[in-house]
Amino acid sequence: MNKDEGLNNRTPASRASWQTELAQAFTRPAELLQYLNLDHGPVSGATEAAQGFRMLVPRGFAALMRPGDPRDPLLLQVLPSAAEHLTASGYSPDPVNDAAACRAPGLLQKYAGRVLLVATGACAVHCRYCFRRHFPYADHGGGRHFDAALEAIAAAHDLHEVILSGGDPLMLGDDTLSALITRLEGLPQLRRLRLHTRLPVVLSSRVTPALCRVLTASRLRTVIVVHVNHAAELGDAAARALGMLRKAGIPLFNQSVLLRGINDDAGVLAELAERLFDLGVINYYLHQLDRVEGAAHFEVDDDRARQLITTLRAHLPGYLVPRLVREVAGALSKTPLDSC
Ligand SMILES: *Cc1c(COP(=O)(O)O)cnc(C)c1O
Ligand code: SF4
Repeated sequence: MNKDEGLNNRTPASRASWQTELAQAFTRPAELLQYLNLDHGPVSGATEAAQGFRMLVPRGFAALMRPGDPRDPLLLQVLPSAAEHLTASGYSPDPVNDAAACRAPGLLQKYAGRVLLVATGACAVHCRYCFRRHFPYADHGGGRHFDAALEAIAAAHDLHEVILSGGDPLMLGDDTLSALITRLEGLPQLRRLRLHTRLPVVLSSRVTPALCRVLTASRLRTVIVVHVNHAAELGDAAARALGMLRKAGIPLFNQSVLLRGINDDAGVLAELAERLFDLGVINYYLHQLDRVEGAAHFEVDDDRARQLITTLRAHLPGYLVPRLVREVAGALSKTPLDSC
């Protein structure tokens, strides 16, 4: 993933504030640990692990971490660790068989009626458990050429929804996004545009009135699915950004990944559910980890996952309990865990 993609090579003076903020993100483990008043014990493993998939942590996200706590749930999501080099059986570079779902460069279809467009390979934060850490973005046009993908979408008359994903589609500038939406809007079979993004949470300055106008100017109904794993990620800045999107009339959903040592606790998941609802976000999916190489140390076993959901059901209204799912290669939808 290349963070410079989507920045349009602008000079610093003409950059939007989110782009400036992104340029100042932490990229060196030692620097982040020093900022958090942590000793540098784990750094050598971190530095080495970061070589394949470099560290990237916006300062606003780092500011939500607890200084002096090496087990901070936000830090553990983003700090490279030596455990990423461990090999585990059943873990692979492409655990969800994206290769088989490819309809055109950058276009994946696994489920009826909806198709996923890799809008860019860039993200504002690099999550260590990410299933796309080995995704061959370069073979998928890196998001620069949508022509082949758009032709394939145009030819598929049974599609109703395009999901912009990546990477993170909000790494595209407003102009690029707007041009892409205009092209999609011209395809009469499409009804919805969905964005899968972490930016409203990890780089909240990306959400501006101008962005809201781009997202709501189209005849397509826009839906946003954010990705939050712990209530501590939802600070004031994220609350403001989500509020702006909600006031623009955009339905908001959340997906989380169940992560060992981060949110594999019923109290933590319940607090996340409450906080999301306070901010107008529906708690949509809780994903079992995709078995991507380098992420085995984050896995929570299925029995424990089911137990957590049972506990949540006993404490929360049903509408606050997310659907516990796993992505099974070849399945017709995300698979609920009670049936796998
Ligand atoms: C997860 C995913 C979707 C979205 O699934 P929903 O159940 O509609 O949220 C769509 N396409 C692909 C390729 C996916 O991986
Ligand atoms: S989980 Fe999402 S935001 Fe994080 S690195 Fe992967 S694609 Fe990017």
